[in-house]
Amino acid sequence: MQAGTSPGPALARLSRVTHRYGPVVALDGLDLEVRRGEVLGVLGPNGAGKTTAISLLLGSLGVQEGAASVFGLAPGAAEVRVRRGAMLQISGISANLSVREHIELFRAYYPAPLPAARLLSMAGLEKLAQRRYGKLSGGQKQRVMFALALAGDPELLFLDEPTTGLDVDARHRLWSEIRGLRESGRTTVLTTHNLDEADALADRVVVIHNGRRIAEGTPAEIKSRTAGRLVRCVTRIRPDEVAGLPGVIEARTRGRHLEALTTQPEDLVRKLLARDEALADLTVVAAGLEDAFLALTRDGKEGGR
Ligand code: ATP
Repeated sequence: MQAGTSPGPALARLSRVTHRYGPVVALDGLDLEVRRGEVLGVLGPNGAGKTTAISLLLGSLGVQEGAASVFGLAPGAAEVRVRRGAMLQISGISANLSVREHIELFRAYYPAPLPAARLLSMAGLEKLAQRRYGKLSGGQKQRVMFALALAGDPELLFLDEPTTGLDVDARHRLWSEIRGLRESGRTTVLTTHNLDEADALADRVVVIHNGRRIAEGTPAEIKSRTAGRLVRCVTRIRPDEVAGLPGVIEARTRGRHLEALTTQPEDLVRKLLARDEALADLTVVAAGLEDAFLALTRDGKEGGR
């Protein structure tokens, strides 16, 4: 069902963008393309440059080097602002207004806003409409941000870590709203640390590391780009003993199991069996998105595709 390989026309674009904060190079010649109708996942470890890239597309940061465009226009143009919505991690928002008042205030900025009742329902806020913003929990505030981002019925939606702090129900509800938006032809750019989220929602993923694009593709393509296999077993051998073995990218304990991500699974299995004859419950599987991401950002190769 995912349409990650069908390239639609670019709706937004960063072209060879370099951005510095004083001596810090946050983006280093980054190319990023958002295609119409897709959910694009922007992934990267802390400090990779994701927020800087999104801020350039939102026009909240000015371009220093390279070019940025949204709908073929400058990102900060008034016409662009009414056609896109953004849910950011931090937002100055009055604690004293109610949820409904905030929604009405935001709706008034746009020429064709969604009805307030629809926004309340999309964000699961029907029962909290009268509550003051300052009296909401962290997860409830997050849902208000989602409603505000959708107020103008945007063609292009930027979601920065949208499910941080949400419980499982609220997260799945928001995922299903994002899928619904995609089905109605909307485009979403999603930055997330939650790789399950990228796997569940994104048609395409761009991995940024040190301000550069190091990988791009569907979640399945990204997974297949790492040669790593995950070796799992129950053993008395500790992760730190495994971490130094040839080919091992990462070793950890998960519940009762030792898990090792490695590029040399046969060799590792032989060594584990030689060291622990009581070793049990051994499996070797393809790496998930989380491990692919880890492998990609560990070796930090450059150059996109
Ligand atoms: P995170 O996942 O932690 O939110 P990120 O991928 O969004 O990180 P950015 O916030 O874009 O990364 O930061 C990229 C780099 O630029 C980091 O090294 C960060 O420390 C630096 N940086 C970001 N904002 C500023 C600023 N206002 N002044 C100085 N350095 C900054």
